[in-house]
Amino acid sequence: MAKVHNFSAGPCILPQEVFKEASQSVLDFDNLGLSILEISHRSENFVRVMEEARELVKELLNIPKGYTVLFLQGGASTGFLMAPYNLLTENGTAGYMNTGTWSTKAIKEAKKLGNVDVIVSSEDENFKYIPKDIQIPSGLDYVHYTANNTIYGTQFKKLPQTDNFLVCDMSSDIFSRPVTINAYDIIYAGAQKNIGPAGTTMYIVNEEVFNKSGRDIPSMLDFEVHHKKDSMFNTPSVFAVYVTMLNLRYMKANGGVEAMKKKAQERSEMIYNEIDENPLFEGYANKEDRSSMNATFTLTDESYKEKFDKLWKEANINGIKGHRSVGGYRASMYNALPIESVEALVNVMKKLRS
Ligand code: PMP
Repeated sequence: MAKVHNFSAGPCILPQEVFKEASQSVLDFDNLGLSILEISHRSENFVRVMEEARELVKELLNIPKGYTVLFLQGGASTGFLMAPYNLLTENGTAGYMNTGTWSTKAIKEAKKLGNVDVIVSSEDENFKYIPKDIQIPSGLDYVHYTANNTIYGTQFKKLPQTDNFLVCDMSSDIFSRPVTINAYDIIYAGAQKNIGPAGTTMYIVNEEVFNKSGRDIPSMLDFEVHHKKDSMFNTPSVFAVYVTMLNLRYMKANGGVEAMKKKAQERSEMIYNEIDENPLFEGYANKEDRSSMNATFTLTDESYKEKFDKLWKEANINGIKGHRSVGGYRASMYNALPIESVEALVNVMKKLRS
């Protein structure tokens, strides 16, 4: 079968090597004569997988002592809820930056528990930009922001300065650049972009967060409960965690986060150069806020739509239709996307104007 260039926004492409090893383990895992899908999550072999996955995250992101790494369920959407449950006190206030659909959803969930102050928002321009010179008040229970706005193709380039607890949804750019972990108190990310398959969510949590809200937290939403049980309070997503572990091993063997950052720069420079040079295309996000993971763009002349759609389909390109709230196109270029795929897309864009 011809190679498909997969620009899907997530779930997305993972390394072929990971797919191969994962598929073998579905038939026979660790030479046990058993599938990874049929063993107990309490078995020695799976406990080793969970431990290795958690350790690899610590190693790849240089996580200092005092932080725990967890692989839980419920998607990043459950993270929207876990942050306030663990940090928002009955009478306190949480500060949120609203930079898109996912931030808006996080705000909605937090409001169900308590007071929320939306410190800044870029909604006035349909989230085309990242607010600058943000003044964050002191005395908040925590501040929340979304590092990369998957739908709009914008990304924070600077770490927000605050003396409050800092919470960040890094679902769509984790492992694409180094992170100053000790500036954060909760980092969460759905696995289905740079981490692994859909089905597990990664949390990096400062242990000082435990018990901070003073609430009677439901066990499944309580970070301390999961930490004390080594991320095995209940049955974890065995297969998703296993494939994640394979992907983390692959990342480590291929230069770690610094190498991923370099690749992300190469891919995004290539596509943004074409968007800027080609009169038939226009970038959606403000230039200085452009995401290195999701490039959003539109046609300057809609009469070219039919021809462009035909060309990219013929080139075996998949997943570049833009999100309905932005329209146009979105090329998601996560860690496993080869540079050749970006070349294939750029060639099609060039062909359209030739
Ligand atoms: N946050 C961001 C930045 C996202 O891109 C998404 C979509 N994958 C979510 C949150 C929601 O994630 P999930 O579907 O895992 O709940």
